[in-house]
Formats: sequence, C-alpha cells, structure tokens
Amino acid sequence: MKKLKRYSQKIVVKVGSSILTGGGTTIVAENLKKVVGHIAHFCQEGKSIIVVTSGAIASGLAVLGLKKKPKELELLQAAAAAGQNILMQSYSHSLSHYGLKCAQILLTKEDFQDRQRYLNARNTINALLKCSVIPIINENDAISIDEIKFGDNDTLSARVAAAVEADGLLILTDIEGVYDRFNAKTGARGNLLKDTPITPEVEKMACGTDKDSCVGGMSTKIAAAKIATRQGIPTIITSSNLDSLSISFKKDSGEYFDGTRFSAVAAAKNSKKHWLAYEAKVKGSLVVDDGAKKALIDGGKSLLACGIHECRESFKQGDVVAICDKQGQIFAKGKVNFSSSDIVSILGKKAKKEVIHCDELSILE
Ligand code: GLU
Repeated sequence: MKKLKRYSQKIVVKVGSSILTGGGTTIVAENLKKVVGHIAHFCQEGKSIIVVTSGAIASGLAVLGLKKKPKELELLQAAAAAGQNILMQSYSHSLSHYGLKCAQILLTKEDFQDRQRYLNARNTINALLKCSVIPIINENDAISIDEIKFGDNDTLSARVAAAVEADGLLILTDIEGVYDRFNAKTGARGNLLKDTPITPEVEKMACGTDKDSCVGGMSTKIAAAKIATRQGIPTIITSSNLDSLSISFKKDSGEYFDGTRFSAVAAAKNSKKHWLAYEAKVKGSLVVDDGAKKALIDGGKSLLACGIHECRESFKQGDVVAICDKQGQIFAKGKVNFSSSDIVSILGKKAKKEVIHCDELSILE
C-alpha cells in the first residue's frame, strides 16, 4: 500500500455512555444528534475524525430485559453483544443526515499487545480515513475479560490516539471540563480550569463516576489525558451539550476553545518506541549492570551480552522483555535477538551480535 498522507488534523473524539444515555439504559436520540452534529462540523472544517464510543452495554440492557447494569460477566458481555449493534445503527443513521459514513472497529488489549495486530488496526483506521469513512471504535466487550480489557474507553481513546499519531484527543462528557472544586452529588462547582498541566493537585480534583451505567468519571479522563499528552497529543475535556463546540489544540495560539485543555508534555515518541514502551506484552526480563544502564539511557546504545547480569523467565527470539537494574527497577523494554536459553549461555561475555538493538529498545519515562 502507498504511504498514506499525513492529515493536517487527525482528531480522536471520545464519547461517553453518560452523554449518549443521560445515565439511563437507552440511547437518547437528542443527545446522539448533538454529538453527531459536532462530529459533522469538525469534518466540514477538514478534520479527520476517529470516534471512540461507549454505550454498547447500556444500549443492550433493554434488549435483555434488564433495568440496570448487571454484575455478572456473561450478562455484561451479552448486553454488549446486543447493544453494539444498536449503537452502530444509531451512529450510522445519524451521520447519514450529513452524508457521512462510518465503520465499526472492536478492539481488545491483546490487539494492542501483539505488534502485527496493532499495525493491522492502525492500517485499517488510516485506510478508512483515506476513504472519508469515520472509524467508530469500542472495546470488544462481548469477548473481553479482565485480563484482556482496557477497562474503560477513556484509556482506550488515549491509546488509539497514540497508535494513530493523532493531533488531538477530544473527550466529550456531560460536564464543561475540569473544575478546581466540584461536588458530584450537589453539582456545586468552582472555577473551570482552561489550560493546565496535569499536576497531582489536578489529579486530586477529579472524582470517579456516580452513575450506575457508566465507567470511570473524571479521574479516568485525566488518566487518559496523561497518556495522550506524554505521547505528544494535546487533550481537551469538554461537554457535548454545548450548542456549538470550538476546539483548538494549539497552545498559545490565542484561538478560543471550549473546556479544559492539557497541552502535550513531550514530543511524540516514534511510534515503534511507543508501542515497545506502553503496549507490547513482556515475556521475561533482563537484569543489567550500572554501566549498561548508563549506556542505554544516556548513550542511546544497544544492549550487549557483556552488560547483562541475569536472565529471568523463558522467552523466544523476537519477544519483548523488560530491562531492569540490579535494584529491580524496570527502566526500558526491548525486542530480543536471542532466546532466553541462548542469552544464559552468553551472559556477561562478549558476543558478536547485540542482544537488543537500540532501534528496538525504548527507555521508559
Ligand atoms: N465499552 C463499554 C460500552 O460500550 C463502556 C466502557 C466505558 O464507558 O468506558 O458499554
């Protein structure tokens, strides 16, 4: 496939269950209309939009004859299976009023851990955008269990944004942004934070959800903003209830924007290094000496057998492993050129080939 052109503005828009269902168990048509109106407006501005949406489980409850979200895993999965269909039909119908088309992508954490599946997901999303079709993504709840779950769609949206190297992440919710004081019970609030770094104080201001049918709350949104901004992706949290929505991810541009904006705190990591550091499944670990640690962190060097002190667990050539110092602190991850049994035989010795090449190694922040 030809190299895809880099879009001027690729935006991931996260839509929460609370705004689609108003905290209830079915999609409120008016609410969806509002969200889709914003999406259509962004598309008209020339932005490429990727939607990460919740609402499958909530929409499936009525189909199963349930009045509230069940606790049992198989019922949650059944609700997701029944509701995902309704969710997609609703989006598809609503978007069609603007002449817009959409496609469904369901993901699990395992899809992100496996390099090939990760690249497949990314390529599909980019191919859809190239054909002007809006990818609508949700977690594959019908088959997800805790071990393979992202858990909440705020996290999923940030990881999708990182995977597709988005220019911005917009988290739509039912509140205008992050307030310096907020009481979820009474709705009493202080000042809206506009442009702010994510400090421990800001993290403390966020609370979880008080709604039965929803996951997360403001705390998972701020955690998602943290993932995105560390990957160079500015994030805005705002309300979908506004009649018109202005977004600008450019810091210091003077452009008006609604909500709370968290600017990027780091330059985007090369996407392979991002995958190694944050997504790849680790199969074992290598304990290295202080000299090797310094050479990897400060010198950007490859990991050589002579700097390895110990090899833990068994893994194959090509697997991703954690690299830790003698105190047990994991400071990097990388793809190994040797199996664990081969590494054991060359530990601390000079070997012709590096154990992990610097291009296949990512230092953790
Ligand atoms: N994926 C779930 C759903 O579609 C929701 C998870 C979330 O809201 O974060 O119902």
